[in-house]
Amino acid sequence: MTDDQQEVRGLRRQLKRLTEEAATNEKILRRSQAREMELLEAPSLPILLTHMTKGLKTSYRLETISLVLTDPEHEIRHLLMASGDHPDDYLEVRFVDTTYSQAPQLANARRPWLGGYRAADHQLLFPGVKPSSIALLPLSRQDRLIGCLCFGSADSERFTHRHGADFLSHLAVIASFALENVVNRARLVRSGLIDVLTGWHNRRYLQTRLTEELARTRRERTPLACLMIDVDHFKAVNDRYGHLAGDDVLREIAHRLELQVRASDVSARFGGEEFVILLPNTKAAEAVILAERVRNTVAAEPITVGTDAVLNVTVSIGLTESQPMGEDDDLKVAGDRLLAQADVALYEAKAAGRNTVVAR
Ligand code: GH3
Ligand code: MG
Ligand code: MG
Repeated sequence: MTDDQQEVRGLRRQLKRLTEEAATNEKILRRSQAREMELLEAPSLPILLTHMTKGLKTSYRLETISLVLTDPEHEIRHLLMASGDHPDDYLEVRFVDTTYSQAPQLANARRPWLGGYRAADHQLLFPGVKPSSIALLPLSRQDRLIGCLCFGSADSERFTHRHGADFLSHLAVIASFALENVVNRARLVRSGLIDVLTGWHNRRYLQTRLTEELARTRRERTPLACLMIDVDHFKAVNDRYGHLAGDDVLREIAHRLELQVRASDVSARFGGEEFVILLPNTKAAEAVILAERVRNTVAAEPITVGTDAVLNVTVSIGLTESQPMGEDDDLKVAGDRLLAQADVALYEAKAAGRNTVVAR
């Protein structure tokens, strides 16, 4: 074999190894992305905590995992109990007053730390077990330490300071964000302002926000548009496919509407199959565009319920804009008037044959 041939072989081998490495990295990346999506989409605190412990333990093939959560006022524990769970059921989760009391090195830690396990420093983080190498992922929000995810491996080479921590940093950011989100959501549910079926705000929340938005409208002399959305012939869905299928349809409609709503809008499930969206600083003429998009997003794609039923569902929308208000006008009365006006427009949309938008 010539030198050239030898070199070519060497290069081929190298290329093969690099390709394999790239494939492995891509697999890891894809698995991590899937895992991170699962954290971000966790609908409740109990599910998130399970994903963050048992889920991560499985997908990262860890011997041990623990999650330390800062919970000085026992709020997270109370929220868990309010959803019917008991904090002690989460064996891998520990609730503490301060996270750094569990390991002083966490006091100023903002990035993951990888290295060997030392009982003197780490035994509180891994009660009852002695991993060989560990990764500590501080969880923080707005510069506040809200907890720590602790990965433990029996392999002393699994986590060392030589390893890159980028993957883990990313995971920690996602986990912190997801945690804050579900805690906020659980707070809202407990406050009685969230509708359990759809996760949307409820009518009580809408009433409060409506008054606030009208106050702003009056102060800043800006318009406020209001959409009242009602599912067409919804009773027939229940009658034909059952109440649970009806619930699925409502959830799917709420989900589709949500994709059209802007962060500055106020949206709520107003009643059984009625939804309201308030659009601050928007005139009726502009709101028609959004209303048409909303109507279309429901009508365009049939909704699947159960395994095979495919339903064509539509909504009717009544739309209106707030009237100019004087300083002495009662905001509660003005709010009721706005909703009543939207309801009249909705009634007209129904009378006009449904699956339509009427502005008034
Ligand atoms: P229209 O086009 O005139 O609006 O007809 P509709 O059948 O939608 O109107 P109606 O107001 O008579 O029916 C609404 C139905 O929605 C009646 C009620 O049983 C049902 N409903 C209300 N809340 C829920 C819920 O949370 N889940 C389910 N599955 N059904 C609900
Ligand atoms: Mg109705
Ligand atoms: Mg209806």
